[in-house]
Amino acid sequence: MPILHRVQQRDGHPDPDFLFWCPGCKCGHGVWVSRANGHTGATWTFNGSMEKPTFGPSLLIRYDTWYPPVTPENLDQWKREPWKQEKRSMVCHSVVTDGTIHYCGDSTHEFSGQAIPMVDFDAIPVEPPPSPHPKT
Ligand SMILES: [Zn+2]
Repeated sequence: MPILHRVQQRDGHPDPDFLFWCPGCKCGHGVWVSRANGHTGATWTFNGSMEKPTFGPSLLIRYDTWYPPVTPENLDQWKREPWKQEKRSMVCHSVVTDGTIHYCGDSTHEFSGQAIPMVDFDAIPVEPPPSPHPKT
């Protein structure tokens, strides 16, 4: 099974060519190889393998998350009695080589500094968990 998910391209949208599952962020990360990322202008090299992909250079993803998180498991509890959440700035910095994600030490998640084999993207539920917190 392919490790990468090939993204359906839409006219006028800066969609990535591929998504891979990131176990650290628990979401898919996009990679642009045939055209530039519409947001940052970045592109990556790709070895052409859907099973053992290699991308270059490293992927650096920054995003904000809310903590403690609201998950599908505790959503009902949160609706009854919402808890105070604080915004945390997350970093996911990785080098993808031969189907393995090598997380750099500046990653803020639990896999920082580790090498994790990629998993079949299509086997993972890609629906994001509900995020009832306000957008900022
Ligand atoms: Zn990540």
